Amino acid sequence: MPIKTALLERSNCTCELCGASDNLSVFEVPPVVEPNSDKSVLVCETCLSQIEKNTDMNNNHWRCLNDSMWSQVPAVQVTAFRMLTRLAVTEGWAQDLLDMMYMEDEAKAWADYGVAADNIEEAAPTRDSNGTILAAGDNVTLIKDLDVKGGNFTAKRGTPVRNISLTDNPEHIEGRVNGVRIVLLTCYLKKMPLFED
Ligand SMILES: [Zn+2]
Repeated sequence: MPIKTALLERSNCTCELCGASDNLSVFEVPPVVEPNSDKSVLVCETCLSQIEKNTDMNNNHWRCLNDSMWSQVPAVQVTAFRMLTRLAVTEGWAQDLLDMMYMEDEAKAWADYGVAADNIEEAAPTRDSNGTILAAGDNVTLIKDLDVKGGNFTAKRGTPVRNISLTDNPEHIEGRVNGVRIVLLTCYLKKMPLFED
């Protein structure tokens, strides 16, 4: 049976999130290896465009999750969970619903996967003092003298720090100065050109 036919049957021809009955289409809930109806939800255009971030969030539209989060279908639960997580940044009611939500372990792991992917996508990049994006393995130099606490020395301006590592905090990197591994503030660093002359 085609996925859409199965979903129309499961949902009684309505959006599984908000209940609308127009412009329904299949949304495959990531990550999808082999698309099937268990991994998909039937959604209306209004829901889909916001899920896929093609239009701004209409926060009030998502009050519908108050009902659909109780769906027995894991794919619907997962989609509801992810949307509530996005909304909870600004909407207290969304956090309240999240706190009430119940999912089996398997569905919860699936839901968390998407949230983690969202966070990576939205995480601020690490930038040096000029705003240049830094990546793990880059070489940087210090743009001012820094007292290294616990290292008992001053790292001089111009000191190269090679093969840096990124941290969870976009304002911090880790690197070796005078053989000591330390955390450095990115505002005191400048990325070195790839090829030094
Ligand atoms: Zn909808």
